[in-house]
Amino acid sequence: MKLQGKIALVTGAGQGIGRGIAELLAEQGADVAVNDISLTAEGTENVVEWIRSKGQRALSVQADVSNRDQVQAMFDKVWRELGPIDILVNNAGIETILPFLEITDEQWTRVTDIDLRGPWLCSQVFCRRATAEGRTGNIVNIGSVQAAKILPGRTHYAPAKLGIEALTRNMSAEMTPLGIRVNCVHPGFVATNMTSWIMEDPEILKNVVAQISVGRPGVPRDIANVVAFLASEDSSYVTGQSLHVDGGWIYK
Ligand code: NAD
Repeated sequence: MKLQGKIALVTGAGQGIGRGIAELLAEQGADVAVNDISLTAEGTENVVEWIRSKGQRALSVQADVSNRDQVQAMFDKVWRELGPIDILVNNAGIETILPFLEITDEQWTRVTDIDLRGPWLCSQVFCRRATAEGRTGNIVNIGSVQAAKILPGRTHYAPAKLGIEALTRNMSAEMTPLGIRVNCVHPGFVATNMTSWIMEDPEILKNVVAQISVGRPGVPRDIANVVAFLASEDSSYVTGQSLHVDGGWIYK
């Protein structure tokens, strides 16, 4: 229970990696606000119910992480109904696969808005409020293996995810002296709705797994374990770092 007494907000936590993170933070003793853009997607309420069944407080908050008014309202609601946030996990993200020559301005803007500006925006709203109240905090950003590995059709997604790494270290330099550590986890190939097209095609799945040293796809808990470490005092001397949690995919 290393996060006993902490309050966490996890974005994009209605399913997949975000859900896995929200559940583990709760298992470690945190009360958790569960954000998603759509509360009906796969059931943010299910995540909230699961957390409450483990004895922690939980709150469902609908917001688009790329919309400043909605983000501001989300932080106001969590602060009001759960209390001051200690841990922010910027997990919400989308991935589309499109040839470079065909990407439109709108498609570029949508992906970079949610995947890069979203974490920047949520972090700024969080840090402004925490520092104004003299509080410390902890931010974990979710990037991607694609910050270091080229996969076809990601000339919009990969720059956003590599940008998360620069965002992490630059925010760390400004915020750690004020008591807010900032780190990043780059997931490899994790079985979620985002990657269901790989999981459902035995040939593609075999090819991808053959490139992973650990020899299997990741599961949300693999990512959550590292996020929980970075969100805890066990990592109190770690800040500005980006850690690949990919079963050795980029190095095989
Ligand atoms: P997912 O699609 O299963 O879940 C993402 C969640 O984010 C969804 O519930 C979605 O509704 C929500 N979301 C999307 N846009 C949002 C917005 N604007 N505001 C709030 N919520 C929003 O995806 P996942 O696989 O769980 O991915 C989670 C994160 O991990 C993403 O940032 C993704 O880029 C990253 N990632 C995933 C993998 C993988 O293999 N699954 C690999 C590398 C990185």
